[in-house]
Amino acid sequence: MKTVFGISEARSIVKQWKKEGDTVGFVPTMGFLHEGHGSLIKKARENDKVVVSIFVNPLQFGENEDFGRYPRDFEKDCLFCETYGADLVFHPDVSEMYMPDFCTFVDMTGLTQNLCGASRPGHFRGVCTVVAKLFNIINPDRAYFGEKDAQQLAVIRQMVQDLSMDIEIVACPIVREPDGLAKSSRNSYLNDEERKAALVLSRALKYAENMVKEGTKNSAEVISAIKRIIESEPLAHIDYVKAVDGLTMKDLEIIGPQTLIAAAVYIGKTRLIDNFTVK
Ligand code: AMP
Repeated sequence: MKTVFGISEARSIVKQWKKEGDTVGFVPTMGFLHEGHGSLIKKARENDKVVVSIFVNPLQFGENEDFGRYPRDFEKDCLFCETYGADLVFHPDVSEMYMPDFCTFVDMTGLTQNLCGASRPGHFRGVCTVVAKLFNIINPDRAYFGEKDAQQLAVIRQMVQDLSMDIEIVACPIVREPDGLAKSSRNSYLNDEERKAALVLSRALKYAENMVKEGTKNSAEVISAIKRIIESEPLAHIDYVKAVDGLTMKDLEIIGPQTLIAAAVYIGKTRLIDNFTVK
């Protein structure tokens, strides 16, 4: 496995692979890798070569968010990537990605206005800009994203379609801890008490999933059941609970196939997200 820091080095390695006829799968991450990322890397091995990027992107963090203290462990991440069978880790510096005169952004309207886009203004502008740059650098055949970040996945699909990018976007299911908590690099912020409290999020969504399975179609009813369960946990503070169309991210009154039920909750100071899609 190779590790590179420069854009031109990464680009020339991938170019050489492609010249030899290899297909390239790409897994963009912010590092501090866990089995959620691991599942994406494993799936990407359906390509001849796998590239993982590790880059904590300042552009997608708001001013009062956790960019500075976001967990980082590059050496451990490299071992992790090697174990999962990656061929190249691309780990650029902020200065490599954003020159001092950087001034071009990918700004999406519509489906970035709801859910995390509403709570984190500018977040998806940062995500789209960095992913577009990474796509231009790596030029993969396929790129792998987790359903854990369901809105991000929809936003990336829309960007690829709108900007005619020749990349197949592959969705991978949410990987959870044995007790149900969705794996996340941010789980490392939680102390023991918060870790227990954090379970309320997956528990509330599981309850809602059963309600929908048993025939409840009214979004308001499902949303209030989720809120009630979350509000029973004193350490939890709801950012949002929503039922939206899985493609457009527009609020829905009636739940149907492909409805996304998504929630963002603060456990203490840590903001966690989770969701499920109605089958
Ligand atoms: P991040 O490093 O948090 O930016 O995540 C990088 C990629 O891994 C994104 O496509 C995420 O959706 C995906 N991911 C993160 N956590 C999980 C998880 N628990 N299950 C599946 N995919 C995940």
